Amino acid sequence: MLDEKIEPFYDEVVRRNPGEVEYHQAVREVVDSLGPVLAKHPRFAERKIIERICEPERQIIFRVPWIDDDGEVHINRGYRVEVNSALGPYKGGLRFHPSVNLGIVKFLGFEQVFKNALTGMPIGGGKGGSDFDPKGRSDDEVMRFCQSFMTELYRHIGEYTDVPAGDVGVGGREIGYLFGQYKRITNRYESGALTGKGLEWGGALVRTEATGYGTALFAREMLAARETDLEGRTCVVSGSGNVAIYAIEKLQQLGAEVVACSDSNGVVHDPDGVDVALLKRIKEVERARLDRYVEHRPAATHRRGGSIWEVPCHIALPCATQNELTGHDAKTLVDNGCIAVAEGANMPTTPEGIRVFHDAGVAFGPGKAANAGGVATSALEMQQNASRDRWTFEHTEGRLDEIMTGIHGLCFETAEEFGSPGNYVVGANIAAFERVAHAMVAFGLI
Ligand code: GLU
Repeated sequence: MLDEKIEPFYDEVVRRNPGEVEYHQAVREVVDSLGPVLAKHPRFAERKIIERICEPERQIIFRVPWIDDDGEVHINRGYRVEVNSALGPYKGGLRFHPSVNLGIVKFLGFEQVFKNALTGMPIGGGKGGSDFDPKGRSDDEVMRFCQSFMTELYRHIGEYTDVPAGDVGVGGREIGYLFGQYKRITNRYESGALTGKGLEWGGALVRTEATGYGTALFAREMLAARETDLEGRTCVVSGSGNVAIYAIEKLQQLGAEVVACSDSNGVVHDPDGVDVALLKRIKEVERARLDRYVEHRPAATHRRGGSIWEVPCHIALPCATQNELTGHDAKTLVDNGCIAVAEGANMPTTPEGIRVFHDAGVAFGPGKAANAGGVATSALEMQQNASRDRWTFEHTEGRLDEIMTGIHGLCFETAEEFGSPGNYVVGANIAAFERVAHAMVAFGLI
């Protein structure tokens, strides 16, 4: 039930953004937590902070024409939604996936504002992408698409303005082509304009691993708050992309057993523990489907269809995509003895799923807190670029660990302070909102 003061804001968001269901869901999940903050700071309501946060500062939509290897012309749609710059330049990834539309980009950008605030780094929030599908495309096709995309995007980004990075479908290869085109058009070697760069040309160590590592570290902290740990725990990690691979790697380093992962074609169950080196080879080098995994691992099985959440586990890390874990899945996990869930993806659990976890007393770390390690390490990359410095892996990983521990502590304490002990959704939403709102009040009506 929404607070009666907040209900009209939410209704207005639905009215002004018709059909954008993921955006409505992301807004609702945040505003649902904000009743007590408005009571504590009447100025936030007076200055209409929630209404202003729900209206992105700028929304850019553009045509992206490109030509495939057979000479056929394609037209995709490009987006950059610059949601909020109260805490710093807009910061957030680019997603290339056929499901991308304005509502998806707005939900991701909205989440990003709060996530970035939680990191404590000087970054605002935005997101972008395209409905381009990189699957099955050659390197040259991806390059031509990225060049065309950047030919419009370059006008809107920059070290002090808006700093994109990767997300689903955008990794090191795509950032390379995007950076190359940005450098060519602007005639500036502006490292601070994009993050997730290659290590040879301004990228930071640990950025590749950071989102997945950070999610595993957040799970470690949630368990520590309950005086337990990951040692010997059975874990299930959905997905097999950048976030999933490095979440699995870190969980294993922390002593856990990861027995399943997935892609959009099916689920791999490996009772001997997922072989991360093999997973990296299939996904990062061969860019192949996950079913190839079982060819090399006799004890592992691959199942098409069905839900990964049927595999019994103590800890679940949804690291694939939005709304991949439903209320039904959450009940299955709870029945199988799951005690903690940390979201590596953005909004992977449906509102019903979150309710099931909270009712069952499962420790639930929402993506905006649990997966903030990726963007936090992007901010560390910006810091290194600005000072023309380069940190070691160990130093950077140490910073990531401190940041994740700090975010966990902040969410935990804020939830307690506002009367919802153990509720990381409330803790994350309120702590992040307070930071952004104080800055917006200080800047006046802009
Ligand atoms: N796309 C990532 C996220 O969801 C990272 C964004 C960034 O590094 O700017 O947070």
